[in-house]
Amino acid sequence: MSESAGAAPGPVASGHCMCGGVAYEVHGPIRQVWNCHCWRCRRWTGHFMAASGCERSDLRLISDDSLAWHHPADDPNVAYGFCRECGGSLFWKVIEGEHHQIGTISICAGTLDPPTGLHTELAIFVDDAADYHALDPAVPTENRE
Ligand SMILES: [Zn+2]
Ligand SMILES: [Zn+2]
Repeated sequence: MSESAGAAPGPVASGHCMCGGVAYEVHGPIRQVWNCHCWRCRRWTGHFMAASGCERSDLRLISDDSLAWHHPADDPNVAYGFCRECGGSLFWKVIEGEHHQIGTISICAGTLDPPTGLHTELAIFVDDAADYHALDPAVPTENRE
């Protein structure tokens, strides 16, 4: 019934971890990059999380061979997705509830294949930023998600 006889439209973006054990495509709108300086993202990434994101239904896992999820003990309703082989940080999501990001998934922007065409739009939880880190004055800040 489709008017286009060709293949389905390609992904908007693609990416993978360092070893390739986790690889994905984004088949829908992709968000600009937010830097999250909250203490969890700081500890998890070793610096801060620079994350793009998309609707969960638009993320297609091409390989999830080594994808694992960490649920913080004091907030098991969020999950951090990483590669258990190379240790790469890849995803963040809320599991359930009314949270404004319930339908979306954050994607660590450094795992996207370049050129991303994205820019850094916002820095959040800046009060938790590491004291050695100079926030970019060109990036708007918020102290919340
Ligand atoms: Zn990996
Ligand atoms: Zn965070």
